[in-house]
Amino acid sequence: MPLSEPYSIAYETVTRAENVFLRLRTDSGIVGCGCAAPDEKITGETASQVLGVLQEEAPAFLVGADPLLLTKLLESIRAPLAANPSARAAVDMALYDILGKVAGLPLWQILGGYRESIRTSITVGIQAVDATVAKARELIGRGFTSLKIKGGVSLEEDVERVLKVREAVGPEIELRFDANQGFTVEQSISFVEATASAQLELLEQPVARAQLEALEKVTRGVSIPVMADESLMSLRDAFRLARGEMVDMVNIKLMKVGGISDALQINSVALSAGLESMVGCMDEAGLAIAAGLHFALSRPNVYYADLDGHLDLLNDPTRDAVILRNGILYPTGKPGIGFDIPEA
Ligand code: MG
Repeated sequence: MPLSEPYSIAYETVTRAENVFLRLRTDSGIVGCGCAAPDEKITGETASQVLGVLQEEAPAFLVGADPLLLTKLLESIRAPLAANPSARAAVDMALYDILGKVAGLPLWQILGGYRESIRTSITVGIQAVDATVAKARELIGRGFTSLKIKGGVSLEEDVERVLKVREAVGPEIELRFDANQGFTVEQSISFVEATASAQLELLEQPVARAQLEALEKVTRGVSIPVMADESLMSLRDAFRLARGEMVDMVNIKLMKVGGISDALQINSVALSAGLESMVGCMDEAGLAIAAGLHFALSRPNVYYADLDGHLDLLNDPTRDAVILRNGILYPTGKPGIGFDIPEA
């Protein structure tokens, strides 16, 4: 799927997204729908690798099995698909979709049922200061009330862009900042100090993903909450970050962690450590966004959503899997994830 507008973050420019859609058919005629959004730099997979494992490896564990033994099936693919978290996420999603359809209930209610909608932020990629401000204004005009500004390439420009955006959008709009691993500890601290008047809500992944000590230093050194994104890929990572009190918040993305089942567990680790959770996304189709949304609607400590990956995708066959009104996301209300992949 091409993007309507290319966007840049600290380590890449994105012009298109490759997702893999999955249908699991049961013998009673129910079809569970899933979606994988691999990202070579983050999940370590390409779309063709995901397609390969879903077509060639997963069937040995899934065909003929009872789809309602969801945890058993997910455990069976955990080791063979260890290097393919987004492929596991697609299977997880399709199995949860089947569960919801069998029960006749939207997934968020089955998972716990906490809230009926959630506000999402929308991302402003790295661009010139004037263009950033214009983009921010446009998004506010479309009803969004929370913006995530990307940076991490130039500290000076990042400071200027954040201050100018705050000036342009007024005090009511929430502003988040994601450095995508682009800063050092010193730069992170300078950035937060220089942008104090803009009242940023949080600083996401300021330093390189493997530099956990640096991440911890930033958390101790700045006055706003620090969130781990790329540093959090698994339940084990969540425990490590929580045990060391290295961050204040975590960004849980289904594609990184292998689906809703693991996301729920990571979220419990976060809760136990007093960390707030955000559900995030890759460049992923509406169906995957809907799965993230159901997770967020089921758990009280998922305070934040950054579920905008589908909005710029052209030709997304599952675009209508979520409903967006004035920056707030709602599920469709139908059973399961709530949307079937149209037949090609
Ligand atoms: Mg991020």
